[in-house]
Amino acid sequence: MLKDICIDSKAIKSCSKCRITKNLNEYGIRRDSRDGYSGRCKMCIRKDNKEYKESNKIKIAAYNKKYIEDNKEIIKEKKRIYRINNREKRINR
Ligand SMILES: [Zn+2]
Repeated sequence: MLKDICIDSKAIKSCSKCRITKNLNEYGIRRDSRDGYSGRCKMCIRKDNKEYKESNKIKIAAYNKKYIEDNKEIIKEKKRIYRINNREKRINR
């Protein structure tokens, strides 16, 4: 009986953000943390990621646009190679 409680108390953890006590499987694994689990639960991390994406939407879009601009030639070349490879595949079939 006492052993069971011990296991239970080990298998739960309270989230550093929402403060809700949850099962360890609700936390991501983090090797660099003291208990081997992330301080925030998966739900909070997911929410944070979503908020980050939402608030940085313009920044991310601009970054992607810049990447395409900067790598126009490389992307074009990759597409060309892809097309050639696929054409060859089709012929060989
Ligand atoms: Zn949480």
